[in-house]
Amino acid sequence: MIRIGVTGAAGRMGRTVIETASDREDVTVVFAVDATDDETVAGKPIHEPDDIAALLATHEPDAIVDFSVPEATVGLADACAEAGVPLVTGTTGFEDDQVAALEDASGDVAVLKAANFARGIQALLATVRAATEALPGYDIELTETHHNAKQDAPSGTAKTLLEALADAREEDFAEVYGREGIDPREAGEVGVHVRRAGDVRGEHELMFAGNDEVLTLSHRAEDRGVFAAGALDAAIWIAGREPGFYTFGDVIEG
Ligand code: NAD
Repeated sequence: MIRIGVTGAAGRMGRTVIETASDREDVTVVFAVDATDDETVAGKPIHEPDDIAALLATHEPDAIVDFSVPEATVGLADACAEAGVPLVTGTTGFEDDQVAALEDASGDVAVLKAANFARGIQALLATVRAATEALPGYDIELTETHHNAKQDAPSGTAKTLLEALADAREEDFAEVYGREGIDPREAGEVGVHVRRAGDVRGEHELMFAGNDEVLTLSHRAEDRGVFAAGALDAAIWIAGREPGFYTFGDVIEG
């Protein structure tokens, strides 16, 4: 049984992490942190973000699981590095300098950043790389859909999928975000389309079209529990691990 702290605990994902952990026997939540005015979430008292250093020192958790906002995650990574507590973060929407700050912290403590903790997305990434290599010259379009409160666009997962495409393709390509007016497709470009509606947990679809055929690869998360389960698996994996910057793919590979 590992002991974790949860940050962003009052959010959609943080709450789901606490609820999912309470159904498991391999992990227990020893404290919860959020900037909310709520006093408790899913039965856990909520502590203020300013208390994080004291909470890390008092509880000595095996890992932190964070789904908050980029600026909070960067500060948290510093506190984790100082305390020697590994960090698993699912927060998305980081600027490049914020990612660099997380990488800096990973020199002192294990940091795992993943835009998507669904195992199906890991399988999709591998499949996308294979399809890109097998279908040179095919037109590729990416569409993602999320709930109407999502802040960042395109999603962190869409960016990870674009990175997988870039790895698999031999040539650079332009990413085109939506089209309007007279705007014909240029050879090689990848169109990226974002939809925000209702309470959609997360859908990603890649279309490969060419040679009188269309291949569509898609993934749909049906419950936030899938992300929470993956993040908790990552927390178990990272507990006691040496400093470094890790991905969810490292967890799946074992
Ligand atoms: P949300 O807005 O519901 O929750 C974010 C929470 O962070 C809020 O409760 C907010 O009060 C809290 N917060 C703000 N500042 C804080 C601070 N300084 N310290 C602690 N908590 C603070 O958002 P959400 O839907 O739960 O998503 C959170 C993040 O996780 C987003 O970036 C989202 O894109 C990402 N996400 C990742 C995955 C994944 O699998 N990696 C899955 C879903 C969502």
